[in-house]
Amino acid sequence: MAISLRTLDDGAWISVDDAREVGVSDVWTLSRGPFCDCEPAYVLVEGFTDAGVDGAVVVAGAVGRCLDCGRQGSVDRLAVGRIVDGEFAPYDPGGVRSPCGPTR
Ligand SMILES: [Zn+2]
Repeated sequence: MAISLRTLDDGAWISVDDAREVGVSDVWTLSRGPFCDCEPAYVLVEGFTDAGVDGAVVVAGAVGRCLDCGRQGSVDRLAVGRIVDGEFAPYDPGGVRSPCGPTR
């Protein structure tokens, strides 16, 4: 069964099968490089621009701000969770991940 993914409320939420699953204002921990030069970068997500599935991983475009250096920017592919047996399993925002691909 296909999973329905979209953003809601002007990017405040990622909806998975019509349930609001991932919201803004979480701080995601990103590895150095794609967003800024902090290691790691603690990025407060302020909005989602899109959502999609890459294999079993749910990836989102996100805009946010680094809490350390203040840089504002966006990432194209923030892995926010994955699909397990047709159900959405969110990742812990506190785990360090690369916005370019899923952490396995
Ligand atoms: Zn930074």
